[in-house]
Amino acid sequence: MATRCCIAGGGPAGLVLGYLLARSGVPVVVLEKHDDFLRDFRGDTIHPSTLQVLEDVGLLDRFLRLPHQEIGELTADVFGEVVVMADFRHLPAPRPFLVLVPQWDFLDFIADEARKFPHFELRMGARVTRVLEEDGRVAGVEVSQRGDTQEIRAGLVVAADGRHTTVRTSAGLPTTDYGAPIDVLWFHLPRTPEDPSRTGGTMRPGSMLVTLNRDTYWQCAYVIPKGSLEALRARGLPAFRRSVAEISGFLGDVVDRIASWDDVKLLSVQVSRMPRWWRDGLLCIGDAAHAMSPIGGVGINLAIQDAVAAANLLAAPLREGRLLPAHLEAVQRRREWPTRVTQRMQIALQDALLSPLLARTDVPAGVPLPVRLLQRLPLLRRLPARAIGMGVRPERVRLPPAG
Ligand SMILES: Cc1cc2nc3c(=O)[nH]c(=O)nc-3n(C[C@H](O)[C@H](O)[C@H](O)COP(=O)(O)OP(=O)(O)OC[C@H]3O[C@@H](n4cnc5c(N)ncnc54)[C@H](O)[C@@H]3O)c2cc1C
Repeated sequence: MATRCCIAGGGPAGLVLGYLLARSGVPVVVLEKHDDFLRDFRGDTIHPSTLQVLEDVGLLDRFLRLPHQEIGELTADVFGEVVVMADFRHLPAPRPFLVLVPQWDFLDFIADEARKFPHFELRMGARVTRVLEEDGRVAGVEVSQRGDTQEIRAGLVVAADGRHTTVRTSAGLPTTDYGAPIDVLWFHLPRTPEDPSRTGGTMRPGSMLVTLNRDTYWQCAYVIPKGSLEALRARGLPAFRRSVAEISGFLGDVVDRIASWDDVKLLSVQVSRMPRWWRDGLLCIGDAAHAMSPIGGVGINLAIQDAVAAANLLAAPLREGRLLPAHLEAVQRRREWPTRVTQRMQIALQDALLSPLLARTDVPAGVPLPVRLLQRLPLLRRLPARAIGMGVRPERVRLPPAG
């Protein structure tokens, strides 16, 4: 089988790229190893810059018909002082709020819209096992599907297969790890009508808990020092439940719903980036090119922004059969800087805020200066909102639909 573009991975990056290329008339095959999108929680945030992308392609109103929640501001409870950390309501976007929608609903939505284009093919249950090489360039992939192995030849292979990427490894492209001092434990708990409504973080000496209001339940993220899960487990589940109840102040009646450690999923945090995102015939985007820290919850957004930039730069040369390595290099040039700047900010926050917080044993005399400034100067809250909601150098879709 042969196609113009073969995308490994049907996550946010792969599906949005597949959608945009098919929309502009490029034959594209997306290969997803799972049989459906209904999997473990992997982040439910759709940022204002992604809403702008959906508006650019005329999908925003339809997307907002999916059951979702709209978050206008993020707050933090810093040692008892509640402060608005990010106010999205002033962002220059068609919808200035963060949308929370289950990731599988978002992926199903994009896949359904993409299937309306004749050039789009999505194969579920199709695992890419390696890249095919010819004369030193990547010429396609080997894919295993329901016991069969097949070769797919492609003018371009895109690795959008996430941070444990098979494609990148098979193509021999290295990545650089920048280290992360934290891991995150994810779990959810029922939400009662008496609970507060705010979405945000709670900081206490030695711990941090993020609670995302999902209407009927709380999606919780408990931040721990890197590699400390075993020590936490050794202290026992009751101690963990107690800690969640104490930090939140309102989950005491429901923490028993964490029935076993199986209900608690570890996200081993990684911050990494490829020095070179491409080889002749191959481009890496999204988590495959750069794993992000969960700070700001920007991984999905960056993956989608990569997809938009790649589509803008590659659709015409792919459609016209004149793709050159210089086009792939241009995608890295466009997206590396926003990725680098975002990761620098995440690393700075990890080092300056989270590591000292997790090492603390006492409540400080006053809240930290940046938090005090955010409390006093509402205009300042627009900066974190901009960084989280729009990101660095937000992308717009510059492709007309195929005639
Ligand atoms: C627990 C958790 C919570 C998170 N919370 C947030 C959040 O709140 N906000 C946020 O923005 N980000 C969050 N993230 C990060 C976010 O999930 C990623 O940054 C984002 O999904 C990256 O998109 P992607 O398309 O590059 O990769 P992925 O979403 O990882 O998609 C890769 C796809 O490729 C498929 N695949 C893998 N290998 C193969 C193969 N060999 N062949 C075929 N298919 C393959 C996978 O099944 C997957 O569908 C979270 C991640 C985790 C794990």
